[in-house]
Amino acid sequence: MNIVRTRTACRKAVALAKKRGASIGFVPTMGALHAGHMALVRRAQAETDFVVVSIFVNPKQFGPQEDLRAYPRPFAADSAMLAAAGVDVLFHPSAQEMYPRGFSTWVDERVVSKGLCGNSRPGHFQGVCTVVAKLFMIVQPDYAYFGRKDFQQVRVIQRMVRDLDFTVAIREVGIVRQDDGIALSSRNAYLSRDERAQAVCVPQALARARRDIANGQRSAAGIVRSMRAYIRAYQGVRIEYIAIINAHTLEPVTLIRGAVAIVLAVFVGRTRLIDNCLIQRAG
Ligand code: AMP
Repeated sequence: MNIVRTRTACRKAVALAKKRGASIGFVPTMGALHAGHMALVRRAQAETDFVVVSIFVNPKQFGPQEDLRAYPRPFAADSAMLAAAGVDVLFHPSAQEMYPRGFSTWVDERVVSKGLCGNSRPGHFQGVCTVVAKLFMIVQPDYAYFGRKDFQQVRVIQRMVRDLDFTVAIREVGIVRQDDGIALSSRNAYLSRDERAQAVCVPQALARARRDIANGQRSAAGIVRSMRAYIRAYQGVRIEYIAIINAHTLEPVTLIRGAVAIVLAVFVGRTRLIDNCLIQRAG
């Protein structure tokens, strides 16, 4: 695996592969890799000839009160995992490399990024769009892979790609969970044993909602009410939002019909976790 730290070296490695006629798959990450990230890598490897993974803890997507400094950075373990998986290029730039002095241009999606995580994390999606746009310009991938765990993020990126005429095709990969149902996340490392035990209420609340819908419940407000009641019984867990939205536009729905997503964000102690499930209902 070729580890590159500069934009120039990354461009060169990709240009060589393209010259051979290889298609390029790209998986952007912030590192602290787990089986969720590796599912994106495997999908990229199955669908493209040459896979680039980036590890960059992007300072521009963290708010001033957020966990930028504490964010885990186990680079040796990450690069060993990617090399063992057969990744072709690991792009690991510094913040200075990505944002040289005087950097002053932002990419700002203004509809899909509002609400949900956009409410509680002002500037977050602007930081995400800015770094992903830069990464797309540097890597020039044919396909880029994003996890559905970050549901709003995938929709924001899809909108950005459409609006700004990027030629990359966005691929969405399902959520990888642990045996207890908790979605894998680099931030799970912050949870104490106690908190982890509490966090299972999140996938459980989603599973209950799914069951209620299968049993005929169609009122979004009713489902959200019962999810809130369920999670409130876990004293270490604070709900930031629970919403049921159109899976394409992210607009709130009142009735469960067509493709909807149940999305939520909670704090377990000081750790913020997000999760969601997709529901497809005819009629
Ligand atoms: P991150 O390193 O947290 O920025 O995540 C990098 C990519 O991995 C994003 O597209 C995430 O949506 C995706 N990802 C993170 N956790 C999971 C998971 N449990 N299942 C599937 N994809 C995930």
